[in-house]
Amino acid sequence: MAKVISIANQKGGVGKTTTAVNVAASMAATKRRVLLIDLDPQGNATMGSGVDKYDVENTCYELLIDDVPVEDVIITETTGKYHLIAGNADVTAAEIKLMEVFARELRLRKALESIQDKYDYIFIDCPPSLNQLTVNALAASDSVLVPMQCEYYALEGVTALMDTIEKLASVVNPNLKIEGVLRTMYDPRNRLANDVSEQLKRHFGDQVYRTVIPRNVRLAEAPSHGVPSMYYDKSSTGAKAYLALAGEILRRRNK
Ligand code: ADP
Ligand code: MG
Repeated sequence: MAKVISIANQKGGVGKTTTAVNVAASMAATKRRVLLIDLDPQGNATMGSGVDKYDVENTCYELLIDDVPVEDVIITETTGKYHLIAGNADVTAAEIKLMEVFARELRLRKALESIQDKYDYIFIDCPPSLNQLTVNALAASDSVLVPMQCEYYALEGVTALMDTIEKLASVVNPNLKIEGVLRTMYDPRNRLANDVSEQLKRHFGDQVYRTVIPRNVRLAEAPSHGVPSMYYDKSSTGAKAYLALAGEILRRRNK
């Protein structure tokens, strides 16, 4: 059975997409069968996987709204060696049309049922809001991974997000777990980042990943080349950190 992990934070620019693409590639590099779902209309995870978002036949829209079978929506050729369900501006329309369909919160969950045995991990890159798309992602997931930057007020934001996730989960998915909190774009020379990091560990304990994602320009450059960072610069601190994160996710699952 696949483990389905949503990568969510209602704040934009915290490293969701970077995490989704790089953790998917790292997990695929360990010979796991991986599917990445780009549920963000910006389509950044799609482009970062070497797939042209302007030139895809099917996206999450066809999957969620048109009942196109999931096998027909999956793209099997990506630069990260994982499979992909693409996202682009069409997915904005899906968000609106979801309002009209029956059991709208459970569309993604239903759509993924038939492929649970084909993958070891399914990662979902969520949009930067708690809209109907994110609700679909959380309803379809076993757990949620929350990337965050260690900034002032970050703890407040994440605590509020966790409360919202719990409330949502109690309605659409009572089994949803917190997979972990991931510190991203971390600069150890920044005193505030260290303070926030300590607070975070006090507050969330073992839920905070030991792996920290450093601020690393290679991670920001790789998407413009349409590849995950490990295929752009394997020796970069960013690529190594995401490989370590994949290892930590695997070990947590086995515990
Ligand atoms: P989100 O999906 O949460 O909006 P992104 O993953 O798109 O966030 O990241 C926002 C921006 O920060 C992007 O330009 C990305 O390339 C850059 N970025 C993300 N993580 C890092 C990092 N660890 N080091 C440097 N730049 C990063
Ligand atoms: Mg994003």
